[in-house]
Amino acid sequence: MASQEVDDGIVRALRGAFGGAVHLPGDVPYAAERLPWNRRIDPRPVIVAEATGPKDVQAAIRVAREHELPFGVQSTGHGTLVPSDGGLLLRTSRMAAVEVDAERRTARAATGALWSDVIAAAAPFGLAPLSGTPSVGVTGYTLGGGIGWLSRKYGFASDSLLRAEVVTSDGELRTVDAEENPDLFWAMRGGSGNFAIASSLEFRLYPVGQVYAGYSLYDITRAREALACYRDWALEEPDEMNTAITLMSLPDAPMIPEPMRGKRFLSIRVFHEGTAEDAEQRLRPLFDAAGPPLMNGFAVMDFAASGVEMTGPPPPPVLARQQIELFREMPDGLLDILVEAAGPEGDSPVNAIEVRHWGGAMERPGPDAGPAAHRDAPFSIIATAMYGVPDMDPVIASYIHQLSAKMGPYSTGGSFLNFLGDPAKADTAFTAENYARLRQVKRTWDPDNFFHLNHNIPPA
Ligand SMILES: Cc1cc2nc3c(=O)[nH]c(=O)nc-3n(C[C@H](O)[C@H](O)[C@H](O)COP(=O)(O)OP(=O)(O)OC[C@H]3O[C@@H](n4cnc5c(N)ncnc54)[C@H](O)[C@@H]3O)c2cc1C
Repeated sequence: MASQEVDDGIVRALRGAFGGAVHLPGDVPYAAERLPWNRRIDPRPVIVAEATGPKDVQAAIRVAREHELPFGVQSTGHGTLVPSDGGLLLRTSRMAAVEVDAERRTARAATGALWSDVIAAAAPFGLAPLSGTPSVGVTGYTLGGGIGWLSRKYGFASDSLLRAEVVTSDGELRTVDAEENPDLFWAMRGGSGNFAIASSLEFRLYPVGQVYAGYSLYDITRAREALACYRDWALEEPDEMNTAITLMSLPDAPMIPEPMRGKRFLSIRVFHEGTAEDAEQRLRPLFDAAGPPLMNGFAVMDFAASGVEMTGPPPPPVLARQQIELFREMPDGLLDILVEAAGPEGDSPVNAIEVRHWGGAMERPGPDAGPAAHRDAPFSIIATAMYGVPDMDPVIASYIHQLSAKMGPYSTGGSFLNFLGDPAKADTAFTAENYARLRQVKRTWDPDNFFHLNHNIPPA
């Protein structure tokens, strides 16, 4: 069914079993509820259903299945890349309750919760989740791997997932953990929404005190020197320290202070669990390479404040494209490409080209870890473009493609699902062995590929 009309019988069947609101094209809430954060995607589902609990998730899956409607799921829409055209879009934002068990150092989040909800619930106990950007959804982030500022110390968010309550493609509600349905538990720790729809996740929290965090801006003319320093310096940083260095271009827009509008900068982001003195001593070589800061944003703060300080206020919905490449090393030829693109003379139309050091606990998975990520690549380069005008899209798409091709000879060819802009390339997010195993698990749990409006992993 591909038109925007849906049979009355299907709507009646859903309304009869579904506790939450159901919106059809033409209903006022439909216009907003159908949209993801990334406005490059313009979905036209025939039904948007706002789940209020696991029974609603079951009802939506059963009705979509029975009536052969394509099925999509969305919390914030930060990772939605495939439109649910002609289908049933299950919205989970209303399922956002978070419970913290301070004694066990765990949290249970209903599937539509944001990281900001979990951070706020855990903070009174001196605990923190392995969150990244606070406005991103817990479920999409965790099931896609999840790299946050504590990940060098404690691993990917998916490594700390303990249990999920899910609805599988047959409409059954199941518990998934190391004992129950272990193959599904393995696959969901990195394989994203391909295997089942989660109604809640339970995961570990960690004690975190004051941190030294934030970002500072430097003159873009120091980009080459700072990158050359970073590629060696970062490999020696302790697990308590997480850093990224970005060549950024601020938009020529009124919200940007006048002297910075439309200009290029070098930015260093730091998250350090420890004292300011210790951090600044370790960072000294990098600071020397970057030169005097034009804006110094590092400070001591609690974990909850650091999320916003590291990433800024939640970015409003925009058109966006992103591309990630992974690297084992960063030779001069690669640095030349970055500086040529986004250095002082650069003409790149993307907003940010970020070099980030991974490693730490992320490269030391436990024996029972899931398939998330390539754990042997210490560096990523992520190009991000956010823009307001659809006409820019072909320019941005072509530029990102060319940049990626230039970096090709240096990259591992791997990616990371959460930052993978092309949903057709899910295979690049996993090792060949893990991808083959994921396809086997998919054949067991979703042989008809019912969950396919995502970074799709087809059944073996
Ligand atoms: C501004 C921004 C900042 C980001 N920062 C980070 C970061 O710091 N670290 C990081 O690792 N990633 C980051 N990401 C990537 C982000 O983690 C992914 O886009 C992730 O998919 C977002 O999850 P969501 O639930 O918010 O998004 P949604 O678009 O709602 O969901 C994305 C996908 O997740 C799956 N999914 C969602 N809900 C369910 C469910 N209930 N059951 C099963 N599958 C489900 C589906 O496949 C869905 O298509 C960022 C993205 C953006 C745009």
